[in-house]
Amino acid sequence: MQYHINKTLTFFLLLTFSATTFATQQNPTPAQVKALQQQALNSDLSYQLVESLTVEIGPRLPGTVADIKTVEWSEKQLKRLGFDKVYREPVTIPVWKRGDAKASITAPFPQNIVVTALGGSVATPKEGIEAEIVRFDSIEQVEQASAAEIEGKIVFIDPITERHRTGKGYGKVVGARSKGAVESAKKGAVAVVIRSIGTDSDRFAHTGMMRYADDVVRIPAAAMSVPDAELVNAMLKRDLPVKIKLHMTPAHKGEGTSYNVIGEITGSQYPDEIVLLGAHHDSWDEGTGALDDGAGMGIVMATGAIIKKSGIQPKRTLRVVLYAAEEIGLIGAKAYVEAHKAELDKHKFALESDFGAGYIWRFDTRVNDSALPAMQKIADALAPLGIERGHNEASGGPDVSMLPNYGVPVVSLQQDGSDYFDYHHTPNDTLDKIDPVKMKQNTAAWVTFAILAAAVDTPLRPIPPKE
Ligand SMILES: [Zn+2]
Repeated sequence: MQYHINKTLTFFLLLTFSATTFATQQNPTPAQVKALQQQALNSDLSYQLVESLTVEIGPRLPGTVADIKTVEWSEKQLKRLGFDKVYREPVTIPVWKRGDAKASITAPFPQNIVVTALGGSVATPKEGIEAEIVRFDSIEQVEQASAAEIEGKIVFIDPITERHRTGKGYGKVVGARSKGAVESAKKGAVAVVIRSIGTDSDRFAHTGMMRYADDVVRIPAAAMSVPDAELVNAMLKRDLPVKIKLHMTPAHKGEGTSYNVIGEITGSQYPDEIVLLGAHHDSWDEGTGALDDGAGMGIVMATGAIIKKSGIQPKRTLRVVLYAAEEIGLIGAKAYVEAHKAELDKHKFALESDFGAGYIWRFDTRVNDSALPAMQKIADALAPLGIERGHNEASGGPDVSMLPNYGVPVVSLQQDGSDYFDYHHTPNDTLDKIDPVKMKQNTAAWVTFAILAAAVDTPLRPIPPKE
């Protein structure tokens, strides 16, 4: 009997206790949000994480030893930071080794130029390839050219990347990199060399992924630095044939396994509903992948950690996903969709940090129009950080870009990427390019969004169709 009374009492006490904590936990008050924002502004955790990653591991090309070290590092950090659940999911990846890349102008005025192999390119024959170049402004011009202009030549595609805060100049010209080899080979080219897709004038070439087609001959593909593209143009102005010799030794090494690494802060009220905070853990191999995407990893990991440490439990689960193999074709992202298809309808929001470590300046969404007032409340909480409310056509970021096809609402915390394409995919993507102060503001925006997003009860679906 005594035992029974105690048990009942305990039950009521527990009920009262959980009701109290519930009330404070499920709807963070403006004061709590403000305090959390301040904690993030005072914390250098996101910077410390990218520092550790770039110093202790460095470049993280999928399929390398460093790739697996990164998976282990990520799990260890997520556990240390107090995430409730930490796990990995396998991803089958193609393995490609860079090898060497050398090039020179052999006529009319011999000079060496700085090049890099584009990701996925085949090698040249051992003795290299030497041929006259034919220049085009853009991939569209190559598509329109006749085979007679191109056959037997090295195609030189020379598009200029415009600098813009949103990075929109990149999308206009990146087709030269991704499609250059296929379009040139269709017309009989022996190789393709593009002006680097980048806004700098450093003598570094920008790498990045290119693609082949099954029914088109695979020709070597490289990028030259912007100053070298200028040099080639100056020679072309002299109306003499310009010849380039290209020598590259990349190799395809079959398939390997990498992992998406996931860390969760469990939701207090709807633990099976998810706010997905993404970044990718692989990088190109020439720099140390500080901006792309070590910064994003630091930001999303710190977001979860700062919220966990605050004691304010998010109402829905915060799921930090560190994607594998983004650079070589969103491979981890596709694997995530396959593995989680059954619960994509439980994804409340998804967003990715993959554009460096600059200031967040705009908050974009893609949600049902009826949820716009709820989004405005989040925008109001972001406003003290200097962030403006943007549009309702957000893409969410590369690794979450396929989720809207499954109805998942996405958000973009737009960061200032004015100088992002100065360093992107070059040896110059290193830690010193990150401003720790800007990164604090960036992380504070993520923390603010995450805690409020997890508490949004308004239905966000169906999302508006893509314009
Ligand atoms: Zn990236």
